[in-house]
Amino acid sequence: MGARTGAQFLDGLRAHPPEIWVSGDRVRDPVAHPAFRNVVRSVAALYDMQHEPALRDEMTYASPSSGERVGLSFLVPRTHDDLVRVRRMMKRWADYSGGMMGRSPDYLNRALAAYAAAADYMAANDPRFGEHVRRYYEFVREGDLCLTHTLINPQSNRAVGPARQADPYLAAGVVRETDAGIVVRGARMLATLPLADEIMVFPSTVLRGGAEDAPYAFAFAIPTATPGLRFICRESFDYGRDPRDHPLASRFEEMDAVVVFDDVLVPWERVFLLRDVERCNRAFAETRAVVHMAHQVVVKNVAKTEFLLGLVCLMVDAIAIEGFQHVQEKVAEVIQTLEAMRAFLRAAEADAALDRWGMMTPAWPPLDAARNLFPRAYPRMVEIVHQLGASGLMAIPTSADLDGPLGAVIETYYQAARADARSRIRLFRLAWDAALSAFGGRQALYERFFFGDPVRMAGAMFANYDKAPYMERVRAFLGRVEDEAARPAGERP
Ligand SMILES: Cc1cc2nc3c(=O)[nH]c(=O)nc-3n(C[C@H](O)[C@H](O)[C@H](O)COP(=O)(O)OP(=O)(O)OC[C@H]3O[C@@H](n4cnc5c(N)ncnc54)[C@H](O)[C@@H]3O)c2cc1C
Repeated sequence: MGARTGAQFLDGLRAHPPEIWVSGDRVRDPVAHPAFRNVVRSVAALYDMQHEPALRDEMTYASPSSGERVGLSFLVPRTHDDLVRVRRMMKRWADYSGGMMGRSPDYLNRALAAYAAAADYMAANDPRFGEHVRRYYEFVREGDLCLTHTLINPQSNRAVGPARQADPYLAAGVVRETDAGIVVRGARMLATLPLADEIMVFPSTVLRGGAEDAPYAFAFAIPTATPGLRFICRESFDYGRDPRDHPLASRFEEMDAVVVFDDVLVPWERVFLLRDVERCNRAFAETRAVVHMAHQVVVKNVAKTEFLLGLVCLMVDAIAIEGFQHVQEKVAEVIQTLEAMRAFLRAAEADAALDRWGMMTPAWPPLDAARNLFPRAYPRMVEIVHQLGASGLMAIPTSADLDGPLGAVIETYYQAARADARSRIRLFRLAWDAALSAFGGRQALYERFFFGDPVRMAGAMFANYDKAPYMERVRAFLGRVEDEAARPAGERP
């Protein structure tokens, strides 16, 4: 089929709706359900961009197998230019939501492309698995399917591994193997954007490594509409209000769900890793999937920071606070985050190299620095929106108020130095939705955690960063100091 249109994406969801539960409701038609109808249209708009004549070449490339135009985020890059093309395409998608939809499909398309390029890694677990992941990648690319994923075992008892929870099938585990495939029971968290065609169930990197963890060590992918697979959502933050009142939540509420496997059969051809605890723990890093995902993440960080910078600058301008030094300092702080993210991205691409799987892979240290910094930088930018908006973030009547009997009063008392009341209220409602609403709160939590626990990410950086040359330099300096001190005073430099 090749690159899909938005309508084809929506048709796919209607034809094969996953078993999604939200606020006690079984969602029969996610395209029509109030919790999802807006966000699925936003995802559809991304797919439609692939067919805009002016963007077609930027968004798609000719499939090496079918010759059809397919989404560029599936590309296995071989050159620096390939990486730049992928980045431009991802930026176009990220800009659509101001970076507020972390799960535009490119996020997992990058992971899948890396997994397929590193198919030999899976083949070392079982020769069939390498072929499975290669075929699966082609299947998803040619059908332009939308993926969600889940990695983490339920947050029940973090002091022990999955095998020692209160119930052996609290964390999703293999119950048995049959001629047809593996049967999986238990739960995983979270799956953002459950409104997807397929779910990739990735290995968790926190298995303890013992034989007891083997039933929990796997990588596979299945349709989200597979029998026995359930998505239990949190409540929706899209309250179905006038989109001018909830400008972000009414478009980009991508939803998060706990995934429950009720003896789900995973066919063998969809199994990519099984029972190899060590290989599962190392899969993200060794296949370089984490690097290609981080590339997408930092592109999103740039788009999101640009959006917040535009937002705070408009707020500052509207109420004429640009002359205060601390205001300038706070806006400058957002600029510093933006330029840092841009620099990380540029460095990662400039220092990209072919990896052992033949994939042109961005340099990891700058991306790793970006993914460690942003979980702190994003909440700080949200705080800056609070500090600059102050009570203006509460002076946000709704469109119904503006159009109601008090409209004229509101026009008077809500005007700003450089914006009439309507424009100012629209702007400050956007700021509220970015920084204070349930949607905004979830964005901050997302940035803190979605790519992993920041504490453990920092620990991994500490463990893996090559610190030796710098320690050696300081040792040499101290040696020089010693040598110089040993010389007679007159001979010291
Ligand atoms: C909005 C949102 C969307 C997400 N979307 C997805 C998704 O689509 N797919 C997916 O797979 N995951 C998703 N995640 C989950 C994400 O990967 C995890 O939040 C992250 O890995 C941290 O794990 P946890 O939430 O289980 O926290 P926990 O591991 O339960 O940690 C809770 C606290 O205990 C501490 N702690 C726990 N264990 C240790 C330890 N061993 N060492 C040190 N400290 C420890 C942590 O530092 C933290 O402070 C999402 C998360 C959020 C918030």
